[in-house]
Amino acid sequence: MYDEVRKTDPEIAAILDAELGRQRSQLEMIASENFTSRAVMETMGSTLTNKYAEGYPKKRYYGGCIHVDEAEMLAKRRAMALFGAERANVQPHSGSTANMTAYLAFLKPGDKILGLSLSHGGHLTHGHPVNFSGLLFEAKHYEVSPETETIDYDKLRDQALIERPKMLVGGASAYPRFWDYEKLRSIADEIDAILLFDMAHIAGLVAGGVHASPVPFCDVVTSTTHKTLRGPRGGLILSTKEKFKAINKMNFPGVQGGPLMHVVAAKAVCFQECMTDEFKQYAKDMVANASVLGDALMERGFHLVSGGTDNHLLLVNVSNKGLTGKSMEELLEHVGITCNKNTVPFDKESPFVTSGVRLGTPALTTRGMGPDEMKKIADIIDRAVQNMENQDALDALRGEAEELCKAFPLYPGMK
Ligand SMILES: *Cc1c(COP(=O)(O)O)cnc(C)c1O
Repeated sequence: MYDEVRKTDPEIAAILDAELGRQRSQLEMIASENFTSRAVMETMGSTLTNKYAEGYPKKRYYGGCIHVDEAEMLAKRRAMALFGAERANVQPHSGSTANMTAYLAFLKPGDKILGLSLSHGGHLTHGHPVNFSGLLFEAKHYEVSPETETIDYDKLRDQALIERPKMLVGGASAYPRFWDYEKLRSIADEIDAILLFDMAHIAGLVAGGVHASPVPFCDVVTSTTHKTLRGPRGGLILSTKEKFKAINKMNFPGVQGGPLMHVVAAKAVCFQECMTDEFKQYAKDMVANASVLGDALMERGFHLVSGGTDNHLLLVNVSNKGLTGKSMEELLEHVGITCNKNTVPFDKESPFVTSGVRLGTPALTTRGMGPDEMKKIADIIDRAVQNMENQDALDALRGEAEELCKAFPLYPGMK
């Protein structure tokens, strides 16, 4: 790998080597990360990066689009088949621009949106004041219930009837439970709101058939392609036939310029991979692994927000262990586990400190790890917490994490 970079830019080549080494030697538990196939990576590193293709297949503003048109049409067709959607736009550069496009397609600045609060598991793009979504729109937020730490749909309905947002936004980046799309739809219908579901985190679970699909219930579904879906870094918008024209127009020329055709082609590769039995098994395994990890952590006295998980991620409130999210993230980094600190519902700490960590199984499951490894990891986490002052013990735990990594090689054959 990197033969040419090595010749022309040894500084960057050294960084690429070091990053491959890091990914190989750490237990990657950031819930939004994954390891793409070599085929996805090759496609991203292709000549398609050279091509300008503003517009859509057969309706471009540039010549020479004959081959990239084929790639985009394939990506669209595969996305529609994979998710049973009437229409797909595969051009969004990221999950954030997918949301920006979907909002601006149907809302005017100042219109009201109602989404899950960031500190309760939602995403910045669901109306947070520092984000375009909060700057451009009048954003209101729903929260999880303090008792169950899950969404209370009756309360959400009451709030929706009072606020009457023009768009109801479902989806999250740190919510470990199933969503009730039927209830979201009926609430949206009652107030005549557009229903958008952002499945960025669970798209792979939906594609693999282990979670129900939001597509039949929603006007618009947005996603990333690089999380559980295991494709290139990018975004995706699915919609009904009726809503599609406005989305296309807002994606280009409204929000973006030229699409990243190398990434669009890599999305096509990803969507095809997602249709295989191997991927369906992968999706099942992500969820099974998260469940085993969650049980093993709870047995060791860790508090899981909502009491468990239905998907690929766990939100662990570590305040009962005398730790903050920040100190837990640092402690785990020390023993070779990469994760991120995360606010928990009704958190008393600031977003820079937090009381929790978010742990995910997508990347470890891609490496081939299963229930036995999840139990070992829960044990490493527990012993790290018990020995947080003992440097030798922590170093030994890091050795255990490295042994696990060695037993499940990442990108074998890549040099
Ligand atoms: C990750 C995520 C996004 C944003 O995706 P980017 O590609 O990082 O812009 C949007 N919504 C949700 C729910 C996410 O989890």
